[in-house]
Amino acid sequence: MTDISVAPYAPLRDVMRVWMDIALAQARLALDAGEAPIGCVVLNSAGDVMGVGYNTLLKSGNPTLHAEMNAFAAGAGQFAAAKDLVMVSTLEPCVMCTGAAMQAGVTTIVYALKAPADSGTGRVSPPTSPGATNPSVIGNIGTLESRALFVEWIERHEGDPSRDDQRAFIEQLLTLTAGDAVERAADETNA
Ligand SMILES: [Zn+2]
Repeated sequence: MTDISVAPYAPLRDVMRVWMDIALAQARLALDAGEAPIGCVVLNSAGDVMGVGYNTLLKSGNPTLHAEMNAFAAGAGQFAAAKDLVMVSTLEPCVMCTGAAMQAGVTTIVYALKAPADSGTGRVSPPTSPGATNPSVIGNIGTLESRALFVEWIERHEGDPSRDDQRAFIEQLLTLTAGDAVERAADETNA
């Protein structure tokens, strides 16, 4: 998979930032719903929104309902004619969602905060079947805003033992991205 540095794509940054704001709004909805704050938007090559979603693991009791899967479900029926889909996630997509993107014809994955423990973009090889894609990956758009939502989740659910599983996931994420997020944000500001 091609890992594209954002630097040479500065003119696209503003567009990707607008898309990320849509995904971040979904992540905030997740936070307000008590879920881990992760949002996604899937767009076609013209920039039209095909579907949005946030993760609903708790509400559904279904551990596969990540933000990306819900965004694809929300856009069901629209994808057949769409080409070169863009999937924009506030957290680097996991193995499942990266695989789903490849199956769905996504050619560009944009994410905000890196997910070192769950990263699918570095772990999944693209299928070779017709229609499958090998997406370009662009990270670190809106990194700090995404990370701040996870910090807010920790604050909101402090001392609640019923959230220990989620807390373990989020605390690990925050630890693994601690220095990185600050550096990346500086990169974004300077670019
Ligand atoms: Zn996922």
